Amino acid sequence: MVIDNATAAAFYDIVSKGERFVIIGHINPDGDCIGSTTGMRNWLELSLGKKNVNIVVPNEFPNFLNFLDIGGRILAHSAEGAKAESLVKSADVIICMDFNTLKRTEALQQIIAEAKGIKVLIDHHPQPEPFADLTISFTEISSASELTWWLVSKVSETHNLPLPIELCTSLYTGMMTDTNNFNNSVFSSTFMMASQLQQRGVEREKIQFAVFNNYSEDRMRLMGYLLLNKLRVFQDLNASIMVLSRQEQKRFNYRDGDSEGFVNLALSIADVEVASLFTETDEYIKVSLRSKGRLSVNSLSRAYFNGAGHERASGGRLYIPVEQVEGYFEESLRSFLASNK
Ligand code: 5GP
Ligand code: MN
Repeated sequence: MVIDNATAAAFYDIVSKGERFVIIGHINPDGDCIGSTTGMRNWLELSLGKKNVNIVVPNEFPNFLNFLDIGGRILAHSAEGAKAESLVKSADVIICMDFNTLKRTEALQQIIAEAKGIKVLIDHHPQPEPFADLTISFTEISSASELTWWLVSKVSETHNLPLPIELCTSLYTGMMTDTNNFNNSVFSSTFMMASQLQQRGVEREKIQFAVFNNYSEDRMRLMGYLLLNKLRVFQDLNASIMVLSRQEQKRFNYRDGDSEGFVNLALSIADVEVASLFTETDEYIKVSLRSKGRLSVNSLSRAYFNGAGHERASGGRLYIPVEQVEGYFEESLRSFLASNK
């Protein structure tokens, strides 16, 4: 599919010789991060028979993704720093997945940069930084999980390796979450992947229910509250904003992952081309931006929100009081639109 013979051969050469593997995901791991990293672990262990494969992520991931982490073995650096760091330092192969800059690994950045192991990057974000020995990067693809599927299925075909159901389940979940259940970033290859995985026995409905029909009542109430009381639409800017403060999070017993999907809601309003969600945390304001038109939220985030991402989905951080967020967003978007006419 998207993977050429030389890339597949170079990847196989590295992993077939490797013994101690560390697979790295990004900060605030999402479905594609956990789907692609557990998919890769499943493939290395179950298809290639590797015995020493670890996944390290900067911080904890939301509970609804637990079903992908067989044995509960993913290490969060925030919880088990020393162990995670020693694994990275002693790995002979380091596979970075679903991020384009080492900054996205937070406190692990320096350790990965200085680590001796061969580095492979598997990613779908624009402008990947050249830190890896082998970079496998495509942007015309739904997700890192889809890219992983085309990579491992090609290598497995060449070398006659099995493609176990655990691998398929992980990669299907990653693709499904990053496309928001086939709503965005869907390419013809994405349907082809979905079809192949379905043929291999992936339980589509079960996965869909585990991810999208598994929220708490509190989360539903919070969504209603935000839509009724917090959503603000800027008609002249074709944009919307929702700001979720710490106080509101407490009121609705907010847990990691609860705001998943909130940023997309306002895109269903006809005139809203750019939707934003700002979530206050202890250290910063987490920024989420989505576009359904031509405006690049990747550029917008790089210019004003200390972040990046894809053309139609990006994120970032703000270090200002929560009360100032709405004004800052409005001004930034106004300046951005004026200079990108
Ligand atoms: P989300 O809004 O779902 O958190 O993130 C959307 C996209 O933006 C993701 O694909 C993610 O890779 C990217 N992204 C989110 N936050 C950041 C950030 O702080 N920095 C960068 N470079 N990318 C981000
Ligand atoms: Mn991701």
